[in-house]
Amino acid sequence: MVKLSNLKCWNIQQRDFQIIDIEVQDKLNLLSSKKQEIDCSGLIGIPSGIDTHVHFREPGFEHKEDMLTGALTAINGGVTTVLDMANTNPITDSVESILQKKKLAEKQQFIDILIASAITNRNYKKLDKIDPFCDAYKIFLPEFEGDLRIDEERISISLASLEEIETGKPIIIQAEDQEIISRYNNKETHQKQRPPEAETIAFQKIFNWAKDFRSLKIHATLLSNSLSIKMLEMTHLPNLTSDTSFRYLLFDVENVPPEYAAKVNPPFRSKMDRNLLLKAFATGLIEIICSDHAPHTLEEKAKNNPSGIPGIQEILPTLVTKIKQSELEWDRVIEAFHIFPAKLLDIEIDNYHARNLVILDENVPFKISKDWVKTKVKWSALQGQNMFGRIHFVIKDGILKLHNTF
Ligand SMILES: [Zn+2]
Repeated sequence: MVKLSNLKCWNIQQRDFQIIDIEVQDKLNLLSSKKQEIDCSGLIGIPSGIDTHVHFREPGFEHKEDMLTGALTAINGGVTTVLDMANTNPITDSVESILQKKKLAEKQQFIDILIASAITNRNYKKLDKIDPFCDAYKIFLPEFEGDLRIDEERISISLASLEEIETGKPIIIQAEDQEIISRYNNKETHQKQRPPEAETIAFQKIFNWAKDFRSLKIHATLLSNSLSIKMLEMTHLPNLTSDTSFRYLLFDVENVPPEYAAKVNPPFRSKMDRNLLLKAFATGLIEIICSDHAPHTLEEKAKNNPSGIPGIQEILPTLVTKIKQSELEWDRVIEAFHIFPAKLLDIEIDNYHARNLVILDENVPFKISKDWVKTKVKWSALQGQNMFGRIHFVIKDGILKLHNTF
């Protein structure tokens, strides 16, 4: 056992930092010297991240990411549990494909990889068979064709069946409407092809499903515009939660990341949207922060620019930097990064904090360099930027999983 002493560590029950010593196991021999004690003065410890929306790409697209590189990227971002989305090849929407993915996830021992099953035209009548195996469900609303598609009239049927089997698993739905997107398909820019009303109309539908199926946990992912926030403000449903990605807190159309990183779904919105989103996130109206980690190679981005950017390593620097700029507070960040995602995915919250922990420096800025970026595709929308929140240690289940020396 190694003692990490004088650590300013977050206590979940007291909702504040306190100075403590903790003991961790160094099973992976990450500490080069046989030191029994490391002085952590000047560093802070917070509960490690749970990311409810990632695309680790395996099986099928291993040239972009795989379970091992995804897990290494996650641990380098202070994230120790992820929920992997279903748009792999094969698509994750059957018992076989879920079990295949769980087996692939066992290749690594850095993090827990939970598996979402898509609800599709192929499986919407068989969810009772799938339920014991998956960790969550995902409905891909803006899907026009292919195996991920579900016809809208079948969504209520699938939700009714999930209510009947009393699933406790969340149903995650991306708020972008198929019909609106197809209507604007020929517009000249990505922003105009996927306008805010596509989100508003989809969110209204998600809202109605949450109202009709009160026993289900319905979760709207990737909120990006102010109308969604207005709707959230007006009505509160206890079984409806939401998230946004770090990228919508950082970027807007007037302030976009470099060329290829600018294309994401939903698209970047106006500065006003971003400011309102940040406020809604700061007050907890939007409960959760996720990455929507969706890596593509730079060659693919240059060729046909598929939507999506890496992000699992970028969440924490975004949040810590926003804290330094007095736009967020630690209490809210810990809720959004750990507590609410744990509630959504039914993960036990470790009240005395020392078993799943990220230890970082909140005071000294660092530059996002190429070396820092761990995703297989080797690029970040934040490259070159100065951020706060450089990670020194990550601990999962009491075991040291990452140690960086600077
Ligand atoms: Zn996604």
